[in-house]
Formats: sequence, C-alpha cells, structure tokens
Amino acid sequence: MAIKVQRPKGTADVIPGEVHLWHYVENMLKDTAHLFGFEEMRTPVFEHTEVFQRGVGETTDVVQKEMYTFLDKGERSITLKPEGTAGTVRSFLENGIHGKGAPFKCFYITPVFRYEKPQAGRLREHHQFGVECFGADSFSADSEIISLVYTFLKKLSVDSIVRINSIGCPKCRPNYNEKLKEYFRAHEEELCETCRERLEKNPMRIIDCKSPVCKKIAEDAPRSIDYLCDECHDHFEGVKQSLTDMGIPYEIDKNIVRGLDYYTKTVFEFIGTGLGAQSTVCGGGRYDGLVEQLGGPKTAGIGFGCGLERLIMTAKAAGHQFPEPFSVDIVLVSADEAGAREARKLAFQLRQIGVSCEIDLCNRGVKAQMKHADRIMAKHTIVIGSTELENGEANVKIMKTGENVPVKLDAESIAKVVK
Ligand SMILES: [Zn+2]
Ligand SMILES: [Zn+2]
Repeated sequence: MAIKVQRPKGTADVIPGEVHLWHYVENMLKDTAHLFGFEEMRTPVFEHTEVFQRGVGETTDVVQKEMYTFLDKGERSITLKPEGTAGTVRSFLENGIHGKGAPFKCFYITPVFRYEKPQAGRLREHHQFGVECFGADSFSADSEIISLVYTFLKKLSVDSIVRINSIGCPKCRPNYNEKLKEYFRAHEEELCETCRERLEKNPMRIIDCKSPVCKKIAEDAPRSIDYLCDECHDHFEGVKQSLTDMGIPYEIDKNIVRGLDYYTKTVFEFIGTGLGAQSTVCGGGRYDGLVEQLGGPKTAGIGFGCGLERLIMTAKAAGHQFPEPFSVDIVLVSADEAGAREARKLAFQLRQIGVSCEIDLCNRGVKAQMKHADRIMAKHTIVIGSTELENGEANVKIMKTGENVPVKLDAESIAKVVK
C-alpha cells in the first residue's frame, strides 16, 4: 500500500466550511485599510536572502535560526519571506515609488514562513496582514496606524488596549544605551549567556529576553522614555494626545522594545482584553532607519504586522458572530433525461444573472440529488422533469422551512424567488 502523504509540520489546510472565515476576515481587513487610504501591495513569496538579512537584521533569531533559505538551481540564495516588511521596502525602492511623493501607504495579506516550534495560532507557514506607511515622520502617522488596528479589532468584537513605548532615535538612543549598560553591568553575573553577550552591543534586547532571571533584572532597568531627546519626547506626547482625543485606550509599557537600530520612536503592541489570558494580537512600530538599511534614501516608516490565524482565534474567543459558510442559492434536481437537459440550460442562464446553482453531475436519482442538496446546505431546490416541462411550471422548495413556491420554469422567474 502506498504511504499516506501528510502535510509538513507547522502547516495547515483551510477546507470548505472554514474558508469563509478567512474570506470574511480578509475582506474586512481590506475594507478597513481602504477606510484609512491604504492600498494593497503584493510582493513575491520569496526574495533574495539578502533582503531579509538587511531588512530584518543579521542578529535576530528570525534571520539566524528561523528562515527557510535554500539555493535555487541557479545557485542563488533564496528565502521564503519570514515577515512582510522587508519585501515591501525592496519593492518600494525597486519600483521608484519613493520618488513619487509622500506618504506611500500600503497593506498586504501574505503567507510568511518561519522554522520555529509550532504553537496555537503560530504555524511555520502562517498568514499576515500588515500595513506600511513610508515618508511620513509626523506622529499623526503613528496614531493613524494604531487607530487602524483598533478599528479592525473592534469590528471583530475584540476589546483591546494598546501598549505603547518610545525607544528614541539615533540622537538619544546612545545616551540611553549607556544608562542601560551601566545598570546591567551591575547584574552581569546573573544574566543569561545571550544577554551577557549582547550587553555591550545591544543592551536594549535584554529587556525582551524571555529568561525569567533576565526579566526580573530588567524590571528595574532605566526606561527609554526618561531619556528621549526633545524631538522624540514631543513626538511621543503627540501620539498619546491623539490616542486620548480618539478615545483609544492605551498604557505605557517600557518593556516593549525593538532592539534593532532602524526602529525609532513609537513601538506598540495590541492586547486583547476580556479574553481570559491576555495575549498580544499584533505589534508594530516606527522604523525610520529601515529604508536606508535596504539601500534607499532616508525615509520615515511605520507599520505593523498581525497574524491572521491568531486574529481569527481571538475573534472566536471574543464571541464574534461570523457569517454562515457559503452555500448555493438553488440545486436544480432533474427527474428524468428531459429534466436534466433543461436543468443544464437553466443553470447556465441562472449563473449569468448572478444566481449560484448546482445540477446533478453524477447521474443520480431524485432522492440522491436531494440528499446532496441537504449535505451542501443549498438554500433552495427545484425538481424538473417531463411533467414540469409540459406545464411550464415547477415548485421551488425553501429548504429551511420546507415551503413550496410555484414558479414559471424560466431563469428570471426562478431568480426572483431565490434571490
Ligand atoms: Zn531622539
Ligand atoms: Zn537573557
């Protein structure tokens, strides 16, 4: 016997009966992005590895441990995208979009690939909705992006709070880093090995270390918001003021850091509230140094990414009313050869005028065709045979109620009843 083929670990199938959740959420995200003036951007699923080495950061876990990287048949190093931003920036530059005026606002819905331990809502292939805004350095862009996230979470019945922080800019960060080093040096012996290594190079990353000991030590570490330069301070005040004006709940969380050089100023995470265990739904921030990192001109940037698997899980947990799965408007059941011929023609005509329908494709009897209609949860059925053809009339059965509605046997008349 042949060995059964199974899907690779960390991947998932979306099958009929579930896929409508995805359509619904994706459409809702697109509509929300449009409300804010963001247009969709599609970039390849794979890029030259360099795009991510430079765009995600050589020292990150993502680049060092989690990327799906391989040599193609032309010996080029290729990587399946582990996140959505770097490819977007590459495309932004390659297509000369940066020269066409600011701001540039786009969104994407894309699969992303990371070789990591699969967990609920976090697969090796998962899907991300993300938004990027380039060329806007005002705090208005920050509050706009944050309010976009708040809006779609609300549409999915998810109550949320945004945790925000400012991690400064290349002007004020060195000063803050010095304070951090001073603080952590005093605890150097207790830190985990990785953190001891990054103490001198990148002390901010100790703050988001997952080791409980490092976490405990980091609790009393200096806060970046206490060391902001005037520009960063005013920017952060602006963000907070706008959120207050819009009525979006926020709290300041000094533990949200992005330890890479091109992240600047605002960083944020959305937490679903009222869901029992609090969980991060999505995160983002400002990365005014990223476009330069990928070889472009100095360009402000801000964005976020949100995992769709986790988002759907969160919306379900929040009790969101999802729509019913897709089902056809009507099944044309044929009682005999003449009925089958008429059904083929009628179905074609109905489809031209926007009525979804099915006919028998398996040469089955009336009973089996009705059973099929039940199984696929068709909204209506109509039996067509020689008698109906002679009379020019048939009965449309409303499946939910069992009620029969007499109807003339032409597409327009049937459409009127089932639509
Ligand atoms: Zn600054
Ligand atoms: Zn550590």
